[in-house]
Amino acid sequence: MLALKNNNSLSFIELEEKYGAHNYHPLPVVLKKGEGVFVWDVEEKKYYDFLSAYSAVNQGHCHPKITQALIDQAQQLTLTSRAFYNDKLGRYENFVCDFFGFDKVLPMNTGAEAVETALKICRKWAYEVKNIPENQAQITVCNNNFHGRTTTIISFSNDPVANTNFGPYTNGFIRIEYDNLQALEKTLQSNPNIAGFLVEPIQGEAGVYVPSEGYLAQAKALCEKHNVLFIADEVQTGIGRTGKLLAVDHENVKPDVLILGKAISGGVYPVSAVLADNCIMNVIKPGNHGSTFGGNPVAAEVAIAALEVIKEEKLAENADRLGKLFREQLNKYIINSSIVSLVRGKGLLNAIVINDTEQSDTAWNICVALKNNGLLAKPTHGNIIRFAPPLVMTEEQLLDCVDIITKTLQEFE
Ligand SMILES: *Cc1c(COP(=O)(O)O)cnc(C)c1O
Repeated sequence: MLALKNNNSLSFIELEEKYGAHNYHPLPVVLKKGEGVFVWDVEEKKYYDFLSAYSAVNQGHCHPKITQALIDQAQQLTLTSRAFYNDKLGRYENFVCDFFGFDKVLPMNTGAEAVETALKICRKWAYEVKNIPENQAQITVCNNNFHGRTTTIISFSNDPVANTNFGPYTNGFIRIEYDNLQALEKTLQSNPNIAGFLVEPIQGEAGVYVPSEGYLAQAKALCEKHNVLFIADEVQTGIGRTGKLLAVDHENVKPDVLILGKAISGGVYPVSAVLADNCIMNVIKPGNHGSTFGGNPVAAEVAIAALEVIKEEKLAENADRLGKLFREQLNKYIINSSIVSLVRGKGLLNAIVINDTEQSDTAWNICVALKNNGLLAKPTHGNIIRFAPPLVMTEEQLLDCVDIITKTLQEFE
């Protein structure tokens, strides 16, 4: 390994630049420590984290209960594979099914894997329960979706950055406009081979697009009418982020298939899950699907702790309350702003839209300025900045952050 000339940010950035594939464009900050809503860089500068690892650390950085669960289990047993039973998985499966109200769970590791799993379950259900002719099943998805990075998932993305030159693509997906019930109804009516509707309750990556009130409930009703599985990708919106345990809870919708990832582990370990009732999940038989690491005892213990923290610390309720305050404060600012045109979101999943073209670097420059002022956020899709702090934030901290954000925006007016 290269001996570091010094331990400043630039030397770490140079290492990643030289030896790491360039599949990300990070903000120029090198972090070495985290606690609650704060992270510290290698120069000891302290920041509010307003990304929360894309909503994976909803419970705050290095939550003591979750890291302790990791340490305890790591010293006992880490991995058996599913060739054998272990004494933690069943307890976790019972816990997570009760927590979200489903019969069964299929444990995986990353969000993309869980989405893939849901797609496979949906297709198998299509042939074995709905009796769609072999290889004819279609799954409806939405424009501007983000469901991960596998070959199949990017096959139904309409983001050219994500899918250009990664073909040939996987068939079997029909893309319709998001937040458009007519488009959904038309598709379901005209195609008897549709097996599922895969949807994000709020489109996070696309720029925190909150659909019209009633969209999710009515989409679910349309799916029921046409015997189509309603598959909710709550990898980013779930686990308290939007002010409820799940974003679909705002409309009292129970998905047929629920996809979870990110904060189900509190950001300390990759854990993801697909939940469904027996009438769906029982199509999966031994050998149909699996993962060496999925359902390992460390993941099981970490996920139980992470979910308990959400309940014990009432983090969904806190996200709801602070989210309202955040939007209220930023809306006050926007009245007299020429640089910000809009704030939108639910709970602590929010975004501001910068009054500039998608190609401009204004949003990036604002994020660099925010960093210099002690707050880390990242643009998504050019002119949109997502604000998603850990849910353990206090009201005082939130108002401090509003102060940093509005003072920074002033520099750009
Ligand atoms: C992040 C994300 C994924 C992918 O999760 P990974 O763990 O990065 O594979 C899938 N769906 C949504 C909605 C996400 O935000």
